[in-house]
Amino acid sequence: MSFRVHVLGSGSRGNSILLDTSETRILVDAGFSGRAIERRLAALEIPTDTIAALVITHEHRDHTQGMGIFSRRWKIPIHIAGATARSCAGLLSGAEEIHHYDVKRPFELGDLRIEPFLTCHDAIDPIGVTIRQRGSGLKVGVATDLGTPTVSVRHALRLCHLLILEANHDELMLREGPYPWSVKARIAGRHGHLSNRASAQLGLELMHEGLAGIVLAHLSQECNDPELAAEAVGTELRKKGYEGPLKVALQDEPLADLDVGALAAAVRTPQLGLFSEL
Ligand SMILES: [Zn+2]
Ligand SMILES: [Zn+2]
Repeated sequence: MSFRVHVLGSGSRGNSILLDTSETRILVDAGFSGRAIERRLAALEIPTDTIAALVITHEHRDHTQGMGIFSRRWKIPIHIAGATARSCAGLLSGAEEIHHYDVKRPFELGDLRIEPFLTCHDAIDPIGVTIRQRGSGLKVGVATDLGTPTVSVRHALRLCHLLILEANHDELMLREGPYPWSVKARIAGRHGHLSNRASAQLGLELMHEGLAGIVLAHLSQECNDPELAAEAVGTELRKKGYEGPLKVALQDEPLADLDVGALAAAVRTPQLGLFSEL
């Protein structure tokens, strides 16, 4: 039984994450062109026709761009909230197999249990997801496009073995960056994106003895830097005893082969002092 995660790419120009067990392969989001998704899968030697489903988190183009064409070309069902599907109807021709999930109800795809949770983001019905493998119990959390980590977001992301968390911008780089004021306010606002500092805080809150890996994702190319993000989040987590890997997903190249089972097995038993220090 295996459970591997490959981030095909992440950032404001496209997001897609492959979850791959020995039984089931799904993509969370299809924010690249159909061809680009195929190319990225081919680079990982994953045959496109083995993808069982697309799960779409919200309607923004960087999460939906290729969903229609990819679904039609390879006959892959799309799981999407009803309101989200209506708001990006232009990407769909009607020929796709569409399943509307309820944003408050878990659903199953093969041996994966998908649990959506509502996020605070400027989209119609934005969600994050946790994905749990039946049998192993391994749990992966995906939370990008996250203006505010609300209580329910933090609750949904509890006890993940692998966390894929947004670290969108460095606050200073955003303040001094090239965007107009209105865009800066949107990004930094309650319904925008998580800064490195906020991502570190969320990571600290989500630490537990079984947390075996963290991936920072959805980095802004203008207002962040992978090393800066890793430093900002890593420093805080390591101070509190986190010893696992901290990786950064990039826009243009896949972050491949995160073996969730192997990561979880490598976690040493309780990181002592963790809970007393928090
Ligand atoms: Zn996005
Ligand atoms: Zn978005």
